[in-house]
Amino acid sequence: MNQSVKHWLLAERRAPLPAREKPHRPLRKRIHLVCFLVFLLLPFTNLMRFDLPRQRIYLFGAELAISEFSILFFTLMFLMFVLVAGAIVYGRIYCSYACPQMIFSEWSLSLERWAKARLPRRPAAARGLFFAVLGAASVALAFIFTSYFVSPMDLLSRLGHADLVTVGGITGASVTVLTFLDLAFLRLKFCTTICPYGYLQGIVQDRKTLLVAYQDPQSACIDCGRCVRVCEMGIDIRRGPYQIECVHCGDCVDACEEVLRKVGHEGVVQYAWGEAGARGREPFLRRIGLRDAKRAVILVVMAGYLTALALAVALHKTVMVRITPDRTTMFQLLPDGRVANRVRLDLANRSSRPVDVRVWVAGLPGAQVGLDSPLRLAPGESLERTFDLAAKAWPGAQELNPIQVLAQSSDQSKPEVSEMMFIMPAKGNAP
Ligand code: SF4
Ligand code: SF4
Repeated sequence: MNQSVKHWLLAERRAPLPAREKPHRPLRKRIHLVCFLVFLLLPFTNLMRFDLPRQRIYLFGAELAISEFSILFFTLMFLMFVLVAGAIVYGRIYCSYACPQMIFSEWSLSLERWAKARLPRRPAAARGLFFAVLGAASVALAFIFTSYFVSPMDLLSRLGHADLVTVGGITGASVTVLTFLDLAFLRLKFCTTICPYGYLQGIVQDRKTLLVAYQDPQSACIDCGRCVRVCEMGIDIRRGPYQIECVHCGDCVDACEEVLRKVGHEGVVQYAWGEAGARGREPFLRRIGLRDAKRAVILVVMAGYLTALALAVALHKTVMVRITPDRTTMFQLLPDGRVANRVRLDLANRSSRPVDVRVWVAGLPGAQVGLDSPLRLAPGESLERTFDLAAKAWPGAQELNPIQVLAQSSDQSKPEVSEMMFIMPAKGNAP
């Protein structure tokens, strides 16, 4: 019996099909657009930027020094955790929905098709048109990418002067050439050769990870080959869901659904939670991927990293002040009869403005701070000083006298307070 007659007969006997899910490709393209806008806006609005020449990090409006280790650590840990957690729960959804390499490779393939369609009888001219548009786009993309590491205004002036001499200029030009070569020749081959994410996916996925699977218990496949023709990665999903080339884009899901609906059957290629994943309506939490305790723990750990990162950003200080007693000598008797204790001061200005730091002491009558206060620090400057606190013995002075050394920078409303002991000679040794 002819295949379509067989499916028509099957359809006649079957219950009505459930409503068709929305196709995935338009949604994916909308998400690509949002990701592109985010990629474009982050460095220009300082929401996320690593300014290497100035050694600064811009994170959601806060300006930090690259040396602020805790923030850098929590940022990197959080990003790494998001990537791994995403791979465990949602498989390669990141690859197909949010990865810049995928977004721009698919755009380049569409551009090439567009150029061929415009000049169907002149393949050389179509290729020239494709390369010309791609060349201009590569300059723009490289500019955005390099802006994550060099100030966009600085980069613009280097571009205006065709700077191929300084490190920034050479970096911008190299990124442009690499972007062009990548989008002209490498494109999706990058995903199966260079990118480690596909290999990572194979390691971290489990039996409940979201994937695209061919499930055909009723032998409904009519072998039309549409799923293979639409696959940009050039594979046949019917050979199994764990092929490293498969980025779980869902194009074959849409294609199969469209073909088989015409003969009264649901598509046999589906997004599924694991190879034998459940189909049909499920509770909300299961539908968004919270399918077991492991996933709940992942969510909690991720929330923990995010909280730690938010706290580290909120509590960071633009001027780091550390005051510690220097106990290489307990005290010193000065020729004028005063007693001196040595103190060490460490300062680091992590802001982009110069600051003045004032140092004074409380709880030590008539004390003198052996330091030219205020101290001026240029943006990014660090400073170490050792100085003497000197005071005459006063009525009621003990061997150990609790005092406070205070330091306040011009951009802070409250001083940093350091509690320490001022050591005086024992009574019998008093000058
Ligand atoms: S097999 Fe399907 S889901 Fe996988 S890459 Fe190809 S079209 Fe996308
Ligand atoms: S699109 Fe569907 S019906 Fe056609 S070959 Fe692929 S799996 Fe079979």
